[in-house]
Amino acid sequence: MQLNYSSIRLFFLLFIACSPSSEKTDTKTQSIGIVIHGGAGTILRKNMTPEKEAAYRSVLAQAVKVGYNILKNGGSSQEAVEKTIHIMEDSPLFNAGKGAVLTAEETIELDASFMNGATLDAGAISGVKTIKHPISAAIKVMSNSPHVMLSGKGADEFAHEQGLEIVEPEYFFTERRINSLRKVKEAEQKEIQTSALEETFLRNQRYGTVGCVALDSEGNLAAGTSTGGMTNKKWNRIGDAPIIGAGTYANNATCAISATGWGEFFIRSVVAYDISALMEYKGLTIQEASRIVIHEKVASLGGDGGVVGIDNQGNIAMEMNTPGMYRAHIDNDGTLTVKIYKDE
Ligand code: ASP
Repeated sequence: MQLNYSSIRLFFLLFIACSPSSEKTDTKTQSIGIVIHGGAGTILRKNMTPEKEAAYRSVLAQAVKVGYNILKNGGSSQEAVEKTIHIMEDSPLFNAGKGAVLTAEETIELDASFMNGATLDAGAISGVKTIKHPISAAIKVMSNSPHVMLSGKGADEFAHEQGLEIVEPEYFFTERRINSLRKVKEAEQKEIQTSALEETFLRNQRYGTVGCVALDSEGNLAAGTSTGGMTNKKWNRIGDAPIIGAGTYANNATCAISATGWGEFFIRSVVAYDISALMEYKGLTIQEASRIVIHEKVASLGGDGGVVGIDNQGNIAMEMNTPGMYRAHIDNDGTLTVKIYKDE
C-alpha cells in the first residue's frame, strides 16, 4: 500500500479516535460531595470549652466521613444522607434522635424529612416518640407508602411495621435537655424582662437540628433533616424540618438543601425551595441564592438560622445569619472541612 498524505491523515485520525486518552477527555467525571450541619444559633467562643468544641468537631468529622466513604465507593446520595444523619441522631450533642429537646409536657417529639433529587420523591414524619432513627422513617414513608408525610402515633406504628429500630421514649432523654427545659420554663414563669444573657440562652434552646446534603457519582442529589424541634414546644408544634420545601429540598436540576433555625420563619420563607427556585428561574449560583434567602428574606421577617447546600456540579453553600452553625463538608478530592463559628 502506498502511503500518501491522506492515508497517513486517516490513520492518524483513527488512532486518535480509538486511543483511551480521547475517551477520557470526552467523558466528564462526575463530582461527588457532601455537606452537613448540626444546628445554627448563638454559638460563641466565650461559651465554649475546648473539650466541648473538640467533641462537636469530632462527631461532625466522623459523620461526614461516613457519608463521603459511601459516595466514594459508588453508593447513592440517599444512603450517604441516611447513614450520615444516623451518626448525629445517635450523638447526644445534637437536637435529633438521642439528645433531642423536650416539649412543655416533658416528652420528646421528633421530626424528619428526606428528598430524592432524581425522582423528586419525598417522605417525612412528625411528632414521633419511639423511632431510633427518624430519618430512616422519613425514607420509608417515601419508599414504602403512598404518602409523603405521617405524624404522631400512626407514624410510630408505620415505622414499627417497617421493621425500623424502636426504642422506649426514655432512650432520647438527656440531663442537659431536661435542665434546659427547666430553665426555659422558669424564665417563662418569671414574666419579667429577660436579661440579654437569658435571652441568648433561650434562643439557643431552639437549635441543634441536624441535616445532610449529598451529590453522588451518578449525579443524583439528596437532602435530609432531623430534629427534636424547639424546647418547651406546645400543642404538637411542628417546625420546618419535616416540611418539604421549607427545611428540606432536593432537585437534580438545581441543588439539595437542608435548613436549621427558627422554624416558623423558615416555613413562611419556604427556604429550601426558594433557594432552588432562585437557581432555576434566575440562574443564580447556590451561594448567591442561599445568601439572598438567609440574609434578606428570612432576616427581614425577623428569623434566624442557616442552610447547607450542594448543587449538581458539587458547589456548596454553608450560609447563616447567626454567630455560628455546626457544619462540615468533604469535597470531591476528599478534603475535610469542619467549622463552628461564622467567622471561621
Ligand atoms: N428548625 C428547627 C425547628 O424549628 C429547629 C432547629 O433547626 O434547630 O423545629
